Amino acid sequence: MQVLISGGTGFIGKRLQAALLARGDQVVIWSRTSQKNAPGVQYVTDLAQIDQTNQSIDAVVNLAGAPIVDKRWSDARKALLRDSRIQTTRQLVQWMAASATRPSVLVSGSAIGYYGSQGDEVLDEKASVAPGFTHQLCADWEREAEAATELGIRVCQIRTGVVLGPKGGALAKMLPPFRLGLGGAIGTGQQWMSWIHLEDEVAAILWLIDHPELSGAFNLTAPNPARNAEFAKALGRSLKLPACLPMPAWVMKLMLGEASELLLEGQRVVPQKLLDAGFRFRYPELDQALNAAVNG
Ligand code: NDP
Repeated sequence: MQVLISGGTGFIGKRLQAALLARGDQVVIWSRTSQKNAPGVQYVTDLAQIDQTNQSIDAVVNLAGAPIVDKRWSDARKALLRDSRIQTTRQLVQWMAASATRPSVLVSGSAIGYYGSQGDEVLDEKASVAPGFTHQLCADWEREAEAATELGIRVCQIRTGVVLGPKGGALAKMLPPFRLGLGGAIGTGQQWMSWIHLEDEVAAILWLIDHPELSGAFNLTAPNPARNAEFAKALGRSLKLPACLPMPAWVMKLMLGEASELLLEGQRVVPQKLLDAGFRFRYPELDQALNAAVNG
């Protein structure tokens, strides 16, 4: 199988790339920067380069997007967060429409921010949503991908939680203070964190590619979300270090402005559709996932 990945150079994309190669698939990475091809991996900076070589792509995984939590959400930053997702997705769908042989499936990014902030409410894929910037961003991103269904392409949108894995993602930002013994809950610590281990994230993407009967939005989160304070304690345990220095909400607000809502408010998400479809999580429990991610 030949799989095209946008954002294939990122934290999730690199692991996905390795998993595809390991099972004998070939990968085309659509990136903003040109890179040297490797065995089984071709880099393109323009989708037209794929047509030129007359390759047929079987599946597309759309992961591109500027990082969400890194900076304060100025109007310019919000526009970049949107454009880097919506425009990329639109270009992918336009390229699929123009392709002589179309891929059979598009697995396209989204996030649990789709649901907005909803306190203790348990959120499966049918849950109602709370309005706000992240909801609108994810809803528009999903809608852009949905357009591919009109081309006869199966579309799965992946509402991803906080991905835990070695050398990147959220843990790379959390670990330095924890390693100095300066870690702890954020704000009240009562907000929910819906997380997923990187290996399960990648396995779920492959599962969606491989199951032609599945389509629509899927929550990619482990079945056991945790409150932020529990998460901090579990991270401390995995490092064998205390995690008792809370980060006050006002510090987060000062540092990140509106973007701090991602850390101070949360979602209690369950992966109902994946579970119903028979997907088995390798890391369903937080301690297990953190041990593997921190010491992996
Ligand atoms: P990364 O930030 O590691 O990688 C995203 C990729 O997107 C980059 O490698 C880059 O590829 C491309 N990209 C970055 N900035 C831009 C831009 N301005 N315009 C177009 N493309 C850009 O992300 P992850 O691998 O962690 O996540 C993949 C997707 O999943 C993202 O869209 C993210 O929002 C979403 N997600 C991730 C979560 C997580 O915990 N990691 C949680 C929820 C959702 P290149 O430089 O090759 O063009």
